[in-house]
Amino acid sequence: MTKVTVAEEWLNACAGCEIAILNVGDVLVDLLVNNLDFVHIPVILDKKYFGQTGEEEHLSIPEAVVGIVSGGVRNEEHKEVLLEMRKKCQILIALGTCATDGGIPAMINMYSDEELKKFTYKDSPTTDPADYPTEHIPPLLDQCYALDELVKVDLYLPGCPPHPDWIAGAVLALLEGKTEYRMPEKSVCDACPTIRESKKGLADIKRMLSAPEFDPEKPLDEMRCLLEQGFLCLGPVTGVGCGGKEGAPRCISARVPCRGCYGPVRKGAKPLVDYMGALASVGFDPNKMPDRRGYLARFSGAHGTLKRPVRR
Ligand code: SF4
Ligand code: SF4
Ligand code: SF4
Repeated sequence: MTKVTVAEEWLNACAGCEIAILNVGDVLVDLLVNNLDFVHIPVILDKKYFGQTGEEEHLSIPEAVVGIVSGGVRNEEHKEVLLEMRKKCQILIALGTCATDGGIPAMINMYSDEELKKFTYKDSPTTDPADYPTEHIPPLLDQCYALDELVKVDLYLPGCPPHPDWIAGAVLALLEGKTEYRMPEKSVCDACPTIRESKKGLADIKRMLSAPEFDPEKPLDEMRCLLEQGFLCLGPVTGVGCGGKEGAPRCISARVPCRGCYGPVRKGAKPLVDYMGALASVGFDPNKMPDRRGYLARFSGAHGTLKRPVRR
């Protein structure tokens, strides 16, 4: 049987998504040995972009049937690698919320490059001030982009990181010749077994400095919904999937509110706007929330969601 060639790249990424690929575990081993041929995966195998001795003039990645890209696009090098991946791969998968929606790195879209450089190189409380480097680093783009703002993406696997169930499912679907594979368009709440009963408005908002009410001896389905307890759980506006195909949401299982790491429930949805609307509908003034843009769009700042405020 001919193996399916796969190329993998990481852009503005932390490698957590690549660890998630490895976490597919036994399924991956079977897939790797029998079906997949990784022709390019810099996180594991050394590959020179400009030929082994730097003899090539243009960045080059081998052709592959499936291309997997993690991370958003923040600088010219990321952009060049992404365009090459799109050119060389028949099916392009955006892996992880950085790739699908900007993820944590897209929070930079709230700040100017000058603010970034000043904070990182001059005002950081943990490092000595230094000059911003100007040589041997790729120029920054004007903001951090999700992949589909620059190229066509065929398949989206959000999550920070994505649950291995979905990665394995996508690869298996592709091996069966399917080019369509979609995550369910449901929210984290749809997979959450906590008790929801209150029809009353939101009480006082609580910070996670105070612990939710629950009995550690009792299962999750005997704990009251964290949002109803006053914690700003983003489950209603976050895509389902972090517990895998069957499991409960990860953070809720740890009795912690959802922070939104799977991005919007569906493409084009705006968690920031939807959540503020939901808060307003139960009588809470969203303007009272400190850093509400950073909190509500922490993982979905691409697609124009987070922008620099106009400084006066
Ligand atoms: S989605 Fe999360 S795990 Fe994946 S690269 Fe981004 S920050 Fe890392
Ligand atoms: S708001 Fe949070 S705790 Fe409540 S049902 Fe949704 S995910 Fe579960
Ligand atoms: S509960 Fe929310 S923040 Fe936690 S892993 Fe799931 S989607 Fe991510």
